Formats: sequence, C-alpha cells, structure tokens
Amino acid sequence: MTCRIVFLQVGNADCTLVQTPDACAIVDLPKQRPLNDWLKLHEICSVDRVFVTHDHSDHFPGLERLVNWMGAWVRSEGPAVALHLPDGLWQRAQENLKELKGEGQVDSHKYQRLQSTMDKISFWNQAGHVRYCPLSADHDIPDYGALSFKVLHPSWLEVEARRATKRAAHNEGSLVLCVRYGAFAAVLLADLEGAGLTSLLDRADRRGPASIRCHVLKIPHHGAWPKNAREFGALLEHADPEMAVLSVGSKNNYGHVRPELFRALLDLRDRPDCRLSTFACTEVTRTCTLPVADRSPGGLGLPTTRPCAGDIIVEAETDGRWSWPAEERHRETVESVPMAACQGHAELSYTLAALHYPE
Ligand SMILES: [Zn+2]
Ligand SMILES: [Zn+2]
Repeated sequence: MTCRIVFLQVGNADCTLVQTPDACAIVDLPKQRPLNDWLKLHEICSVDRVFVTHDHSDHFPGLERLVNWMGAWVRSEGPAVALHLPDGLWQRAQENLKELKGEGQVDSHKYQRLQSTMDKISFWNQAGHVRYCPLSADHDIPDYGALSFKVLHPSWLEVEARRATKRAAHNEGSLVLCVRYGAFAAVLLADLEGAGLTSLLDRADRRGPASIRCHVLKIPHHGAWPKNAREFGALLEHADPEMAVLSVGSKNNYGHVRPELFRALLDLRDRPDCRLSTFACTEVTRTCTLPVADRSPGGLGLPTTRPCAGDIIVEAETDGRWSWPAEERHRETVESVPMAACQGHAELSYTLAALHYPE
C-alpha cells in the first residue's frame, strides 16, 4: 500500500493532497479546478479531511467557494468530513454579517450569500455531515491506518495569544503539518515566517530535531526569503529533508523563488552531513531564466506560466522508502531551462541580488 502526496501546480499558491487507500486529505485549496480535475482523473470519490493553513487567497478560496466545493463531498452517511479552518475565520464572518446588518444591507446580495454560506456549514455540522474542528499542536487527529497527521505549529496558547491581540499576521500563524505514513514523514510549512518560524524552531530545539525531521519538506511561502533567515537555515538543518518542494508561480511579482533560498538549498545539498539530494519547483521562475541584471527590481514575474516539475507526486511506503517517479522527466525539463538553479546554473550572487531585492 502506498501513500501519495501530491503538490498540485497551482501557480504561486499551495494545494496538497494526501491519499492512501484509507483516506484522502486536502491541505489548502485556492483553486478548485486543478483539484477537481485531479480527484476526477484518479476516481477519488470521498474526501475525509480539509485543512486550510491560513486565511490568504493563495491557500483559501473564501467561505462561499469552499462551501460550494464541499457540497460535492459532504456525505449523508458514513464519517463526517473534518473541516479545519484558520482560527478566527468564523468569528470574522459573523462580524462581517453584523456589520452589513448595521449598514442596513440585509437585502444585499453580499449579506444573503454570506448568510446562506454560514447556514449551510451550520446545517452540515448539526446533521453530523461536517465536523468543524479547531486545530493546533495541542489537538490530536485520529490516524487512518498507517497515515497520521500532526500539527507542529501553532500551539493552542499561541492561537489564544494571537486572538487576544488580534494581530493579522496570518503567515506567522500558518498551520504546519507533519504527515506520517509509517516510517515516512513529510512536513508542510505553509507560509510560515517571522515569529511563527522562530516558535517552531524553538519547539524543535526543546523537543529534539526528530520532531521535525522528514523525508520531504514543502518550503514555506513559495520560495520567499524570511527576515529571520538564520533561523530558517537552522530549521532546514533540523528537518534535514531528502527532497524539498517549492510550490511557486512563474508569473509571481515577488521575485520568488528568491536567489537566497536557492543558495541555501544548494549549500545544503553540497553538505556531506545533510541528506538533501533533490529540490523541485512546480513552475519555472525568472530566477532560473534571467541573469540578475535582467531581473526587474520590482520583482516582475515571467509573462506566461511555464511548468517545471508541474504536479509533484511523491509515493511513500510505510517502511520509509519513497520515490518521485517523475524525477527523470523533471531532469529533462530542467535541461531546457537556461539558468536552472537546481542544477547550479542560476546567478545567485548575494551582492548583485541584494541590489535588486531590498528588505
Ligand atoms: Zn500567506
Ligand atoms: Zn502563500
């Protein structure tokens, strides 16, 4: 029996599927079409768990779209679909309703749509079709045979603290998941950065690096380079992945994948004491196609989408063995990319890059 972890090519966004014969879970779903196409193609007819790591549109389509999508997966019999939404999202939706009501907009489309979306989730919840579950590193998720999910960040105390201060730093509070299948582990870092990254590193320091050590690591924030880069480097060392996955869009205007990040991955790959042997991006970015001097200071992306690895499908066994069957095909694709960073061909000069990527 095999566990498939699928990083769908969805541009500068995240959509990950975890599938075994016992279960199917989805982590983030910014665009439903590629996800639906995948589910249909692979004849997957039930979804057990939906995680939304944080409330940003490149991870979450909004409540209304989510509910429309979930309509196809809600079952009147059998186990309920477990829905994990970011903390505070339901409360914000309620506040929006109240605000619209205060403005006398009860008859507006906006109000009606939001109200009926919330009614639907409430109905499913009451009927036992959907379980709306809070989630943190202090909540347990039941296993599906050899498949288990563990939240590594944030802790419930951190969730409460953020709620009290009403800080809107969603990336810092991103849900970080460790997916285990027997002896195999993958860690999905969502868009973790800043204080969230520091907190996860602290926890790994205190509990031991084994808590975050994994075979496959989804790099956070589509290849951004965090301000606390030193801590990010330490986290990479603790995780010590064999493969790093970057879900990144060709047309992104942020300069992702940042050259510094590629540099860090190449350095890690060259170290004999680290296991990293491969890293792959879903799409080609300007960093792999243009010399530093030709990259616009504003971070303008490529004019068109260009797949690199495309959908990245990792297959894992319970004994910890894993493979990326399309690795050879990716290698062939990379040969047509003029300055492929994973082959060490990109211009990643710190001095020059610094001129183009101010903090
Ligand atoms: Zn984000
Ligand atoms: Zn993101």
